[in-house]
Amino acid sequence: MRTKISLTGKRLLTFCKLALSGMVVTIPLLLNPWPASTPPPVTSPTQLDHVTLQLQWKHQFQFAGYYAALEQGFYRQAGLDVQLLEGADNIQPAQEVLQGKADFGVAASNLVLLRGQGYPVVALASIYQHSPFIFLAGENSGIDTVHDLVGKKVMLEPQAAELLAYLESESVLVDQITWLPHSYDTSLLVDGQVDAMSAYSTDEPFLLQQAGVDYRIFNPRAGGIDFYGDTLFTSEAQVRQHPQRVAAFRSATLLGWQYALAHPQEMVDLIYTHYSQRHSREHLLFEAEQTNRLILPDVVEIGYMNPGRWQRIAEIYTELGMLEPGVSLQGFLYQSDPSPDLSGLYLLLAGALAAIGAISFVALRFYQLNVAIRREVEDRARTEAHLRLLEERYRILVENAPFPIVITRLEDGKMMYVNPSMTQKFELTQEQALGKAASELYVFPSERTRMMQILVQQGAVQEFEVQFITTSGKKFWGHLSAKQIVFEEAPAAFFSILDIDEWKRLQNRLESLAMTDDLTGLFNRRFFRQRGKEEFKRARRYQLPLALLAIDVDKFKDVNDTYGHDIGDSVLKEVAALLGRSLRDIDLVGRIGGEEFGVILPDSSLPNAMQTAERLRAAIEQLSVHVNGYSIRVTVSIGAAAYHAGQNTLDDLLKLADRALYQAKEAGRNRVVSLTTGKT
Ligand code: GH3
Ligand code: MG
Ligand code: MG
Repeated sequence: MRTKISLTGKRLLTFCKLALSGMVVTIPLLLNPWPASTPPPVTSPTQLDHVTLQLQWKHQFQFAGYYAALEQGFYRQAGLDVQLLEGADNIQPAQEVLQGKADFGVAASNLVLLRGQGYPVVALASIYQHSPFIFLAGENSGIDTVHDLVGKKVMLEPQAAELLAYLESESVLVDQITWLPHSYDTSLLVDGQVDAMSAYSTDEPFLLQQAGVDYRIFNPRAGGIDFYGDTLFTSEAQVRQHPQRVAAFRSATLLGWQYALAHPQEMVDLIYTHYSQRHSREHLLFEAEQTNRLILPDVVEIGYMNPGRWQRIAEIYTELGMLEPGVSLQGFLYQSDPSPDLSGLYLLLAGALAAIGAISFVALRFYQLNVAIRREVEDRARTEAHLRLLEERYRILVENAPFPIVITRLEDGKMMYVNPSMTQKFELTQEQALGKAASELYVFPSERTRMMQILVQQGAVQEFEVQFITTSGKKFWGHLSAKQIVFEEAPAAFFSILDIDEWKRLQNRLESLAMTDDLTGLFNRRFFRQRGKEEFKRARRYQLPLALLAIDVDKFKDVNDTYGHDIGDSVLKEVAALLGRSLRDIDLVGRIGGEEFGVILPDSSLPNAMQTAERLRAAIEQLSVHVNGYSIRVTVSIGAAAYHAGQNTLDDLLKLADRALYQAKEAGRNRVVSLTTGKT
């Protein structure tokens, strides 16, 4: 029964694909979509557009918003007859939607992996701002940190790719975990048949609490992996062929979620009586409470998707080798119309209103119009003068603003207005600017495209940092804010730009100070280790050679004692400079101790590293440092070590190189010694 699955890097892609190609069984919902408690449909069902939504799992509070949208009639009012399809462990919503067996689906943030692999899925709304995925471990499993999962039996569900991202980011060796298919049965954890399992923070902890079992939770957020949870999605074909249906379904669903979260008790009763008694009422209430924490309806607009955050999620998957680098998310995020088309709903409401109060409405309107016209005639003269005054005031403000202001037409990105600060900063005249494409102001026009996507989606952009270029080719960093407006009766964008070049330079300087060692200008120990860890991970993942040299100046205390500390410093500087110029661009040199240097040689085998080390040793032996009339010579001892499969971390490799260095010192100094295994 036991399946051992290895899940690093590309292998994970295979795993996801395998999961996707699993057998599919559709379970039609055997429920009356119009329970007796809800009012009869406004439109007769025959006129409604029948659509299906594939849930990710069995009925529970996780899907409360969809039940609410059904029961409260939001779907019906949007012209939709929605059928909810219950999930099961052999059903992948993405597969159902892509094969046209369902119109919409609910999926975890691994949706972006599918998109990255070229499946035309489109995210409509991220309902859960944070993912519920966690690892649960039994108290007696001996698992105190995620690293203890190594060598343990762990059940993992196929959607939980982000948990693997978490493990990868913590450098846990996922190949050395015994992965078991998920049985969705917490009793296996209770009686110790498995050591840990993937779970929903909203769900399984309740069962363990009830069983009186102590457990541990490992949340990816602790490791900086903060992904979206349940996301409503559909296919590109659906968006293309039924744009109105998609917009209506999305809006009605969000209304459903608003309702559900505002009425948790009512939803629990509804789910328990109409949908499923698999979970007790207490369990459903627990779910409701936890769900609220992940959706954060009081903080974030329900369904909100931040393109930057999705991009970051994709980048993390890429960094971890689960996605090919450079995949585009173009088209992945649904471009919701700023005013979603609920025309069906509004028409119905308006129609009903009109029918009820047509006569009184018309009478009232006539009266109002009369009053308004009279007032307008009186007010017009005053208003026009006032408007002119206001216009003048704003014109002065904009014209004299000490920072560039640009207004562009949304349709073609051409500049419609620029203020004098802009023409001065970008070194052009008003005439040259007007009608020109704003993208020409950007060093990387693709960044403008990205920014415009955010602007169109969210109506405003704040704190977008981007590099601009002036007519004469001068580049500067700008801090850009933008807002969608109507200008000269056309949809337009208003931009203000602050020059933050000086600030950026300072920031870069600070960053480089944090990275480098003051005396030698080489990487400092902290940064050397950080970069070293990245190289180590890369070597391990792709099984590339990697070597490390530990270099220590021989009898350096004598140099200090003879010439003084300052001259000692000068010698260290010269040695560092020699190391810096004697290595390849891809090599990393750092000062890792007082008179000790480290060199990381990516893509180098041990024999290559030995050659490099010998070359460095000989060059230093030849080096003569001239300072204060002295000519000082030093030698170095070098320990060389290469990465091999038994090493787990960079520190293992550092220790090995250190041992080799120690042996070089013991053997008389001014020499290179290498070690190949962990044993001395
Ligand atoms: P060996 O490594 O060959 O065993 O002998 P050593 O004399 O180099 O070794 P030890 O570790 O005993 O001494 C290292 C000396 O390096 C001690 C300290 O005075 C000197 N040192 C450490 N950091 C600096 C520095 O930044 N500037 C100077 N001038 N000296 C330093
Ligand atoms: Mg030393
Ligand atoms: Mg020394």
